[in-house]
Amino acid sequence: AQSARKFFVGGNWKCNGSKQSVQELCEAFNAGKNIDFNRVEVVVAPPSVYAMLTRSILRPDFGVALQNCWVGKPGAFTGEVAVEMIRDIGLSHVILGHSERRHLPEIRESDDVIGRKTKYAIDKGVHVILCIGELLEEREAGRTREVNERQLSAVRAHLSADDWAKVVIAYEPVWAIGTGKVATAAQAQEAHSEIRSWIRRQVSEACASQMRILYGGSVTPENCLELAAQPDVDGFLVGGASLKPTFLDIVRAYQ
Ligand code: PGA
Repeated sequence: AQSARKFFVGGNWKCNGSKQSVQELCEAFNAGKNIDFNRVEVVVAPPSVYAMLTRSILRPDFGVALQNCWVGKPGAFTGEVAVEMIRDIGLSHVILGHSERRHLPEIRESDDVIGRKTKYAIDKGVHVILCIGELLEEREAGRTREVNERQLSAVRAHLSADDWAKVVIAYEPVWAIGTGKVATAAQAQEAHSEIRSWIRRQVSEACASQMRILYGGSVTPENCLELAAQPDVDGFLVGGASLKPTFLDIVRAYQ
């Protein structure tokens, strides 16, 4: 991490929890000590039905996100949640392009839909945590960079240069998500530096130097410090380990 970029830690609760577990976790987070919110931005993403509850309990230093949103205006879209609603209940961010949404056969969201969602959310004033990353077979075929750049290009097609200021990128190699197989610090640094250089070439130098690039995939309190020490790792997107009070030890990795 480099202090010019404010460290960012997201907690993605995925499809887990209950009213009671949300209440308990938020209370544990509220009791957390030794976190300088001038130096770290923290955002948790509960299942959408628990978002208002989470927002009402968590102290305001924490941001709250949804894990997905509809691609455009509210209307006759059964089962969907619109960006306007995310704003309305006081949330700051939305996670888009998570690998589970890209790859689960029940969902299979396309690169282009993710690009359109990103544009719509930014236009409505909601910040985007944009997830990208390669499958195991893509890494083994030496295609990591190509896959990341394809996913980024599909978003770039919809965004102005200024829009990128409202995005943080989460590099999440799919083989590391929920598997306990964390990328090595060197693997993460290599991918992050390639992503930053893509932004330098395709958007601008200023955007590249300001962009927070998070690592996600089996991050724990034990492995986060070595990853956070990499110059191009500006924070984390945490799944399983964000469901426990020790998530705050990952938040403190900025120290
Ligand atoms: P994990 O999930 O930390 O449980 O591997 C990360 C993510 O999907 O964002």
